Formats: sequence, C-alpha cells, structure tokens
Amino acid sequence: MSRVYLDHSATTPVHREVAEVMLEYMTGKFGNPSSVHSFGREVKKAMEDARAQVAALMGAKPEEIVFTSGGTEADNMAIIGGALANRKKGNHIITSAIEHHAVVDSCHYLEKQGFKVTYLPVDDEGIVQVEDVAQAITPETILITIMHANNEVGTIQPLGEIGLLAKEKGIIFHTDAVQSLGKIPVDVNELQVDLLSGSAHKLYGPKGIGCLYVRKGTKLERLSHGGGQERRRRAGTENVPGIVGFGKAAQLAKDHLPAETERLTKLRDKMIAGIEANVEHVKLNGHREKRVPGNVNFSFLFIEGESLLLSLDMKGIGASSGSACTSGSLDPSHVLLAMGLSHETAHGSLRLTLGKDNTEEEIDYVLQELPPIILRLRAMSPLYQHQR
Ligand SMILES: *Cc1c(COP(=O)(O)O)cnc(C)c1O
Repeated sequence: MSRVYLDHSATTPVHREVAEVMLEYMTGKFGNPSSVHSFGREVKKAMEDARAQVAALMGAKPEEIVFTSGGTEADNMAIIGGALANRKKGNHIITSAIEHHAVVDSCHYLEKQGFKVTYLPVDDEGIVQVEDVAQAITPETILITIMHANNEVGTIQPLGEIGLLAKEKGIIFHTDAVQSLGKIPVDVNELQVDLLSGSAHKLYGPKGIGCLYVRKGTKLERLSHGGGQERRRRAGTENVPGIVGFGKAAQLAKDHLPAETERLTKLRDKMIAGIEANVEHVKLNGHREKRVPGNVNFSFLFIEGESLLLSLDMKGIGASSGSACTSGSLDPSHVLLAMGLSHETAHGSLRLTLGKDNTEEEIDYVLQELPPIILRLRAMSPLYQHQR
C-alpha cells in the first residue's frame, strides 16, 4: 500500500480541473480585473462567474460573496468587522466553546477592546443547546457566532433554530462553515445566517482563498483600507487564479455532493465499526449521526495521540490528533475538553478525515494496521499496565 491521506479536515489536494483553470488565469489571462481594457474585462468576467459558482453552493446571491484570503480572514472580517460596526447597539457577543482558533482568537481580541463574550458549553457529543443560546442573549447582544460543522469531531450544529432566535432579536448571526461547505448541503436561508465563512482548500480548491457571505444590509466595518475592490469590503487586487479556482471547486463540490456524501458516509461508518470491533477501550468522539460524512474521531485510552500519529506515519498513514505538539502547545484540544473528556482521554485522540480519493482498500489497510499499533503502544504504556 502506498501512502494513505486521511487528514482532509486539515487540507485537501487541488482537483486537477481546478489547477487547470488556475493556470489559464496565471499565464494567458493575467489582466487586473480593475482595468478597463479587454485584458482586464475578460478576467473581471471570470471572477464574477466564480462568484456566482461560490454563491450557488450556499444558496446566496453573487453580490453577497466577498472573496478573502481564506477561512481565517473571513472569520476575522465577520466577527471583528461585525462587532465594530454595531458597537453603538451593544457590546456582547455569543459564541461556543468548540470554535476554530480563527473565531476564538477574534473573540479574545474583541474582549481586549472592551467587548463581553459568552462562550457557550456543548453537550458530551459536541452539540450547542439552543436553550443555552436563548438564555445567553441580553439587550446588549449584537453578534452570535457558532460554527456549522466542527473541524475536530465533525458535529453539525442546529443553526436554523439558533438563526431564528437571532433574527427575532435583530442580532447578527455568523457561522464558520469551512468544514461543512461542499460536504453537506449549506443554504444561507435555511441556516438563517447573515454571515458565513468558507475556504477553498478544504474543498479541493487552492490555499489562500476563501469567502465571506454577507447578507444584504448587514453592517461590517472594513478591516483593510486601500482600493474599492469587493464592493469596498476588502481592499487589494483580487487573487484571480485563487478565485477562479475556488469557483471551479465550488461547482465540482455541488455536482458531486449527493454521491460523495453517500460514498464517504459508508466508508466512515465502516471505519468506525471496524475500529470499535477490533480495538478495546475506545470512545467515539462526537455525534454518531449528526457529523459530516468523512469524519472519524476516536479516543484510545492509555495512549498518547502523538506516538500513535508517528506509528501510523511510519505505515504511510497521514492522520491528526487532538493531543499536544501538533498544535505546538501542551494543552489538549479545547474542543474535546469542552465535550467533557479528561486530559488523558483527550490526549489519546485520533482524527481520520476521509476525502474524494480514499478507497475501501485504504480503509481496510488502516483497519489492518491500527489494532497492532494500539496493542504495541499499550504494552509500553505504564497507565495501561497499571489498569490491568
Ligand atoms: C481550516 C479552517 C479554518 C481556517 O481556514 P483557512 O482558509 O485555512 O484560513 C477556519 N475554520 C475552520 C472550521 C477550519 O476548519
């Protein structure tokens, strides 16, 4: 077996058709979309076509899409831009305890600027309770930001219900949909969101390009100053190859979504069932059904996630963990801790995220290699010796 990539929540390979269209817009069609001549106009047209493709993936209007440098910038733009533009109305923001760092750190920044932030808990399957959101709302609340699908455990949040609450109270509702866009149906009207972040490299597009959906009438303070691009919401010459690549990736994702959902759900459930049948002392993290199709996340008790990753890597398997070091810190994943896992259990976590090129043979290969690795690591673990 050659190498097996099971880290699609970290990033995905660029689809060949995406790379081909990007090349065209780097070499032949290289104009600046702001130029009035034909070199500029042909590029402007391609950019607007891509905007329509990205909008179509989420049921939005093309003019509501702002291209950014990725999911991180979209989150910053939504949360910091949304809070600054509405600070006269209030200074309170609601988010959850399981958000991506791009959201968490934007909220921390706002706290330093005098805003108050409520970090809502989640249940042991990683789901935010709608009642908790309702109770947290105060007359000062101006923004609610809750992710659609979690990047570690894949759980899907009840956004439609939360969005309705926000709408009734006139509160801006943002979601980080980087892990759901292209993987499950995303519709800005069904989800009742005003702002939604997406990123191309999580759906077979290039790195360094993303988008923020901005519902018409939503006030945002701009964070970059200069030219009038992106309807004055983001200054700077557009990343044209990235944008046309994102458009192509969005169109491919939309076309393949139903079939891929079915295929990946089967592979995911095969992996989950295989691990549960062949390894003792394991715990599936996240919700069994309310999770994105390609996400598998387990805690292996008495094991250090880091050593598990290295052992898998020696077998050519690329996965990730909610344990130390990967993130450059000694703290285990804040997501797993918020779900009530102990530090030890969180440290022994393994995330396997499947994608378009994974095959059933690859799942079989992992199911063959993983159990003996676990046995070997446990044999060396003082914690495990003690428990036996
Ligand atoms: C990857 C990711 C981001 C960051 O997107 P970039 O395009 O890499 O900046 C934000 N949120 C979630 C949930 C992610 O998985």
